Amino acid sequence: MKRVAVLTSGGDSPGMNAAIRAVIRSAEHFGFQIFGVRFGYRGLIKGDFVPFTSSDASGIIQRGGTILKSARSDEFMTKEGRQKAADQLKDKKIEALVVIGGDGTFRGATVLAKEHGIKVVGIPGTIDNDLIGSDETIGYDTALNTAMEAIDKIRDTADAHERLFLIEVMGRHAGFVALETGLASGAELVILPEYNRDIDEIKSSLKEILKVHSRSTLVIVAEGEQTGGAVKLGEQLEPEFKQYDMRVAILGHIQRGGSPTAHDRVLASRLGYEAVKALKDGLSGVMVGVINNEVEITPLEETFEKIKKIDFDLVELSKVLR
Ligand code: ATP
Repeated sequence: MKRVAVLTSGGDSPGMNAAIRAVIRSAEHFGFQIFGVRFGYRGLIKGDFVPFTSSDASGIIQRGGTILKSARSDEFMTKEGRQKAADQLKDKKIEALVVIGGDGTFRGATVLAKEHGIKVVGIPGTIDNDLIGSDETIGYDTALNTAMEAIDKIRDTADAHERLFLIEVMGRHAGFVALETGLASGAELVILPEYNRDIDEIKSSLKEILKVHSRSTLVIVAEGEQTGGAVKLGEQLEPEFKQYDMRVAILGHIQRGGSPTAHDRVLASRLGYEAVKALKDGLSGVMVGVINNEVEITPLEETFEKIKKIDFDLVELSKVLR
């Protein structure tokens, strides 16, 4: 095998550039010619390839976003779309693809490999941390720190007015960001998709908390929790909690941006190298990850077919420490 391509797909996450850098430099190290594919699977279908050399990896380790751009592609969800993508790769004599993204990206890579015999290796890059096969995904740590810093600032103003704040963080299906930012910022309550509480339960927890907390009260709400996120939850709470001068803040896309933390840069560097090494070793249809600080190789399908569980001990801890 001589030619390998790399792409970033789905929601971007801080540290993707550090992973691209590691893939480029490791490919050179192992003697592969390396190409970038711009705009994920959409670019793959169009043949939007750029040849990379080591110098393209300069000065990007600290940058958020992705120099390769990212995209979502409905066309790639069709057999015809994937045929076009495979034709583009075959045309350029590229035999293997490194995909950096989340579960959707890995689902796509899995079918591409099965239908067309393209070798694929996945690198977990998503702020959601919702993939089996790695304790953490690239971008998760940065997103946690970004959210925590924003919440610290909200705490100052909430204290000043003794307000109740509902703060929505990202996580459509997974509450990892909500749970850990809640713990890190000393929030009084966290509401998670995995730990459904109906509105009456939420109200009674909140009433209990408000009995003891006179300074300020922060509730961290994962966007995908069952009441429908912070705005809808706020509407349902408003009539009974009027006297607390409640405010809603949605942290939104700031959680995806910014310079990656040292932790994410190191993780991305390790996984970029391991992905190329896996290809060199003849592996395909796998994701590289880190579990208990050891590199682990997991079949791609396992990474998204099973649901990664949040740590319920941390949920209990957040209740004790609130
Ligand atoms: P994140 O969860 O961080 O947003 P992701 O990789 O899960 O990242 P998605 O938008 O779910 O992001 O998926 C990225 C792309 O992968 C989709 O736009 C689509 O082109 C492709 N994809 C997703 N699921 C499938 C599937 N079942 N079959 C083929 N392609 C898929």
